[in-house]
Amino acid sequence: MIVIRDLCKSYATPSSTVTALSEVNLTIDKGDIFGIIGFSGAGKSTLIRCLNRLEEPDSGSIRIGDHVITDLNDKELRLARRKIGMIFQQFNLLDAKTVWHNVAFPLQVAGHPKPYIRERVAEILELVQLSDKAGAYPAQLSGGQKQRVGIARALANEPDVLLSDEATSALDPQTTYSILELLQDINRKLKLTIVLITHELDVLSHICRHMAVIEGGTIVETGTVDQFFLNP
Ligand code: ADP
Ligand code: ADP
Repeated sequence: MIVIRDLCKSYATPSSTVTALSEVNLTIDKGDIFGIIGFSGAGKSTLIRCLNRLEEPDSGSIRIGDHVITDLNDKELRLARRKIGMIFQQFNLLDAKTVWHNVAFPLQVAGHPKPYIRERVAEILELVQLSDKAGAYPAQLSGGQKQRVGIARALANEPDVLLSDEATSALDPQTTYSILELLQDINRKLKLTIVLITHELDVLSHICRHMAVIEGGTIVETGTVDQFFLNP
């Protein structure tokens, strides 16, 4: 379902060129929960941001379902991105909007009619167990509740894939597990493919079925999580 081939990305800085990704190859099955783990600076964030072209790769290809993401023009990319949800470490919510409007926003941008938006927002807020917070502003929520809003917003347009960029790294352990369990529940109920990056082994072992280890911008290991943890 997701096929990454020979992906390269470097950043030009005033003093030098930093190679963030070098010939990355990876295949992720539809419906999987796939974890990518590595130390800080390994290239995790660059890799996951290339999947929806928040970063432009220098070369290589990315296919998600029927879309060759790396070949899309701007308009095609905008449409394809509706089917790729993303959640972030710092939640990236719209602070001036209520929970309800944060979740409605991507549906409004997609041009859905108001009655559909009302129905859909209610449905997703129920899924993430935040129906009672619809009128609250992000500043009035706990970290875990904020991330639930982030998840609800990411799911609004019924994506095929959910990308998680260290989504639990700002949360305490107990809240982390409740968010991971929500992601697992969503994966089961919606048959959604989840790709998550993390620097924490615990996060990965808790919910992922397959995983890859990234070091210095290349994938050094891939396999099932059980292989990694049962046969060191
Ligand atoms: P990780 O998410 O694993 O911490 P990143 O993808 O953020 O790794 O970074 C990979 C490498 O690319 C690091 O050496 C980092 O310093 C560098 N890098 C990331 N973003 C930029 C940028 N915008 N400009 C210059 N270098 C960057
Ligand atoms: P717009 O300016 O886009 O019309 P409104 O703020 O007037 O947005 O809200 C439009 C509709 O959104 C309302 O009729 C209501 O059904 C729904 N809505 C907005 N906020 C909430 C909320 N906190 N809880 C439930 N429904 C809400």
